[in-house]
Amino acid sequence: VTNFSAGPSALPPSVLEEATAGLLNFAGSGIGIAEISHRSKEFLAFLEETEKEIREQLDVPSTHKILFTQGGGTGQFSAVVMNMLARHALLYPNLGVAGSERTLDYVLTGSWSAAAVKEANRLTANLPGVRVNVAADARAYSKDGTSYEGIPPHEAYTFTNNPALIYYCENETVNGVQFSKPTTTSDDQPETDQTAFPFHLLPKGQLLPLVADFSSSFMSRPIPRLADHAIIYAGAQKNIGPAGLTILIVRQDCIVDVDAAAKLGALPVPAVLSYKYIADGKSVPNTPPVFSVYVAGLVLKRMRSLGGPEKFEEVNERKKKSVYEAVGEGEKRGVFRGKVDEKRGGSWMNVVFEVVGDGAEGRFLKGAEERGMKGLKGHRSVGGIRASLYNAVTEEETGKLVQYMREFIESETQ
Ligand code: PLP
Repeated sequence: VTNFSAGPSALPPSVLEEATAGLLNFAGSGIGIAEISHRSKEFLAFLEETEKEIREQLDVPSTHKILFTQGGGTGQFSAVVMNMLARHALLYPNLGVAGSERTLDYVLTGSWSAAAVKEANRLTANLPGVRVNVAADARAYSKDGTSYEGIPPHEAYTFTNNPALIYYCENETVNGVQFSKPTTTSDDQPETDQTAFPFHLLPKGQLLPLVADFSSSFMSRPIPRLADHAIIYAGAQKNIGPAGLTILIVRQDCIVDVDAAAKLGALPVPAVLSYKYIADGKSVPNTPPVFSVYVAGLVLKRMRSLGGPEKFEEVNERKKKSVYEAVGEGEKRGVFRGKVDEKRGGSWMNVVFEVVGDGAEGRFLKGAEERGMKGLKGHRSVGGIRASLYNAVTEEETGKLVQYMREFIESETQ
């Protein structure tokens, strides 16, 4: 069976076999990975190697720490607000009082960034002087004014002067909308690609409080301008491993004394959400999800042996191209309708489209199941079809889907 699910997603069979052996005997210790102490020398060595894999493969500079935690993307919707508000309160203790404002800028491109905005509003509702600003709303540029159909043009953005955070979701898993890779390397050059994040429009003259949710695109390709981010985070359950592990890349100035900030009026931060607590405890301040870390480490080692993110980028680009092409062919024949134009920010990881006609979607899904292709049903909030093409989905498996899409077009138009 090929698993095209948006997550938890497929993992490479060779890794699952290796992990099965590790469940019985981890790193020659004679103890299984789910049983061994997270403070054992074997596990701590593995954790260090896993961190090194991420640092080397994504070229993470020494200005940034790599942290492992739990709580998923949803945990980070809260954590980024709390830690970045604490940082801002320490840097600018006089904001948010006496009529001045502390702002949080959010770029809205789909339902996950919308969920992050909702959490920011919830947490700050009773904090005096704090305002959540929607810096751009992609819905304003959709056909019906209410859908997420692509990345908004650069004219849509209005950032505030000195925000506590600037937030975007690199890949919107539900809607299939993704920023393209930035083409610029410094803020002095205007970004010309309208579907790339507009770094040149960000406030100048400060360490950028730029936060990005990479949950469904992490490790699918290199991350250009990674060093310009304050925080990059990703739940593991798409490209990396089983759910339970959340990976953070945090610039060191964002690891702050949240208790000192709380005395200045910032939100009190539960220890497990505090970056300082996690960093001081070297990602094991409490029991980490050892099995998820183990599988993630195996996936990352395999990635490196296959050529790393650069190689996966080439493969992933070919994969998505072939699926968008098939959607386009179906569109011409009145069988499919793409939800997001590939050129307006169509996701590489989640291709979302509709099957047109009475009962046609059911026929499409049934035929796919019969051919061993599962997980293609779109998210319940948007419907339609969603083909998720994470790293573990091979070109051959993608080819099988594309071939089926073509057969389906023929059968519907006879
Ligand atoms: N952000 C993105 C882009 C996601 O795809 C998801 C889940 O699919 C989340 C956040 C929420 O993650 P979690 O379920 O780990 O809380």
